[in-house]
Amino acid sequence: MLGTVYKSTGSWYTVKAQNGGFYECRIKGKFRIRGIKSTNPIAVGDQVEFDVEKVGDDAVGVIHEIRDRANYIVRKSVNLSKQTHIIAANLDQVFLLVTLNNPTTYTIFIDRFLATAEAYEVPVVLLFNKIDTYNEEELAEIKYLAALYRKVGYTCIGISAKTGKNVDKVKELMTGKTSMFAGHSGAGKSTLVNALEPQLQLKTAEISEQHLQGQHTTTFAEMYDLGFGARIIDTPGIKGFGIVDMEKEEIGDYFPEFFALKGDCKFNNCLHIDEPKCAVKEALEKEEVAWSRYRSYVQMVTGDEDNYRVDIHDN
Ligand code: GDP
Ligand code: ZN
Repeated sequence: MLGTVYKSTGSWYTVKAQNGGFYECRIKGKFRIRGIKSTNPIAVGDQVEFDVEKVGDDAVGVIHEIRDRANYIVRKSVNLSKQTHIIAANLDQVFLLVTLNNPTTYTIFIDRFLATAEAYEVPVVLLFNKIDTYNEEELAEIKYLAALYRKVGYTCIGISAKTGKNVDKVKELMTGKTSMFAGHSGAGKSTLVNALEPQLQLKTAEISEQHLQGQHTTTFAEMYDLGFGARIIDTPGIKGFGIVDMEKEEIGDYFPEFFALKGDCKFNNCLHIDEPKCAVKEALEKEEVAWSRYRSYVQMVTGDEDNYRVDIHDN
């Protein structure tokens, strides 16, 4: 049978078959997935082939094949083994909740998140939450940011998880798909999920970041079916994605507006920092590329915010 993994504890997998039934499954023998050294061979969202065997009175599934993944997101283990843990697979999209204050979401956080998602090949939708709380000036800033990220190619929606404003638009985007919510603690993830499906209580908010650091966590990602025909993956304690190991040279490829210009740079290995005749820097001067995006990019490449040398001022 073909099914989708809804929950994984490491030794048992809850799989939903195409007929709608849920099966507790285990893996037969050793499972090796090509090219990935991970602590878990099968993750939530994986499509698997399994057989059902009778064990006493119970029906137990045995997974014998895993389908190729469209994408997957990982977290590096904090322990010494440096192994990768696959958080989830086959995501259709991630919604990143952004708030101007309480908490502040800085553009470097947004841009790092977007670049990482590009590397993972996971589409991102930006949700500017708490629009019921902003004054005119703040609303203008949201409008500016939304226009900036729309131009790069991302869908942006201003919402209020609290009042329900534009939550129907989120629902529409989610229908028939598998989604995940991300954003700073306090940005409104639980409130939004509650607005989408009042019965569902996610565990996301209950686990602090500190709790995760330096110790093994016993929380696992889990997929849920929502009443209106959508699936969400809850990832307790995981704010965003794990950091992907990106080579300096490839970071620019994950900024779509930079990538589009790359062919016009004089040097085909242009880092868009010190090189002459750089199309990205020329676009920056003409304000066709946003300064905030460039600054995030340089910070990612150099690991140091003050390390850029460009004759453009941030105002
Ligand atoms: P999470 O940590 O991302 O899950 O954030 P929560 O959903 O727990 O929200 C944090 C706080 O922000 C709670 O007090 C919510 O009531 C509040 N909140 C969330 N969304 C909104 C919103 O759209 N408008 C307002 N005014 N408050 C919100
Ligand atoms: Zn360049």
